[in-house]
Amino acid sequence: MAGRRHSNPEQGGGRSQKPKHVRGFARGHGMHHRPGGGAPKSFGSGRLRDNHEHRERSYRRFDDEKLADLPAEQRQATLRARLESGDDANIFGAPIQGPRARGTVVEVRKGHFLTELREAPEMPPGTTPLPEYLHTVLRGTLEQFDRGLASLVASGDEVEVVVPPVHGDETYEAVLTRVFPRTSEFRRLHPSGRSIQTIAANVQQVLVVASAAEPLFRPGFVDRLHVCALSCDLPIALVLNKTDLGVPEDVEEMLAVYAKLGLPIVRTSAETGAGLDGLRKLVSGKRSVFCGHSGVGKSSLLAALEPDFDGYITVGEVSTYTSKGTHTTTHARLYHVDDGELIDAPGVREFTPADTDRKNLWAWFPEIAGRRAGCNFSDCTHTVEKGCAILAAVEAGEIHSRRHESYVRMYQTLPV
Ligand code: GDP
Ligand code: ZN
Repeated sequence: MAGRRHSNPEQGGGRSQKPKHVRGFARGHGMHHRPGGGAPKSFGSGRLRDNHEHRERSYRRFDDEKLADLPAEQRQATLRARLESGDDANIFGAPIQGPRARGTVVEVRKGHFLTELREAPEMPPGTTPLPEYLHTVLRGTLEQFDRGLASLVASGDEVEVVVPPVHGDETYEAVLTRVFPRTSEFRRLHPSGRSIQTIAANVQQVLVVASAAEPLFRPGFVDRLHVCALSCDLPIALVLNKTDLGVPEDVEEMLAVYAKLGLPIVRTSAETGAGLDGLRKLVSGKRSVFCGHSGVGKSSLLAALEPDFDGYITVGEVSTYTSKGTHTTTHARLYHVDDGELIDAPGVREFTPADTDRKNLWAWFPEIAGRRAGCNFSDCTHTVEKGCAILAAVEAGEIHSRRHESYVRMYQTLPV
């Protein structure tokens, strides 16, 4: 990942003059040029009367009606498979023309996202130079079905896009043509309980950011993230910020528990700069997803790691409105720090593991997994049973009661 932004020297020139980071969609990323704008159109209705009628029609596929009838998860899988095929005819019903570029998705919003260019095509002479970050949209079936809770693309995805050339001060609008298979995903069960959401793609680790005080350290939150990370087969590390405020005894006690579970722990203070080198080392050469309650100092840490963040980090927290008019900030944003990358997900607050139910939750608590053979009942839930080896270990102080408490809380919120 190191140096990826600069990996294509031929296209240096104009691009290297540009600011390193984009400041959001509003400034010339083509928002105002979205054909049709707004709500996805119904393809079967025959009521498309705008100029884009012909184009929209050519995207239509015969089986779109069938897709609509599929359960959300299967529909998602079908659309993903189409996207990964990179076959225009499969995605759009016909090949589409235009120069193609490759890049990384750095921010996703409803129906559109930002692609950071990595390999730019040769553009026809006289066209406007390509920006470093391309406003990118979904088209056709993909757009139509991207209304679900789980987006087809996530921050961190590697994509191919078609870039119709523009002239003068027109803005570029790229169209997604392909998503490359993910090497990993950080996923959760969406709070609605109806879909699995990929928060970040192609990540190597999860960092949970907590504060020593103000707000209070919450072991339950760390435990939930720990379970989410383990269930995604991703390592997790704990960043304890605000250590300048002092680390209370009970927090130290939990840190010892996490250390025993094998979590690397980095103590930082964005205020004094203590521990920032340790944090740098932790994020170096990798892509990490950065999770924490608001107020723990995530933005301050990002700003401390990369002074360029000052002043624009709030872009990631700008609220957008869903089609229902409700507030959402659940998009994640990818940032470059030193030679690593951080995907910050400021709006994601609830971490419920995907593919996990009450019956298999024990698997993500190593201290339970290692002892459950000793329980009286083979279907022991480890919450109330007589003869439960886990409850006995909690009683004996071998399992920390806060960890067991987290298990019970999660157990109660998971599907049966
Ligand atoms: P975020 O919501 O996690 O992004 O948190 P912010 O970075 O916005 O920080 C929340 C508040 O905590 C701000 O007032 C920061 O100045 C303060 N803060 C952040 N890091 C530290 C720290 O290490 N020590 C202290 N004492 N305050 C901090
Ligand atoms: Zn038990």
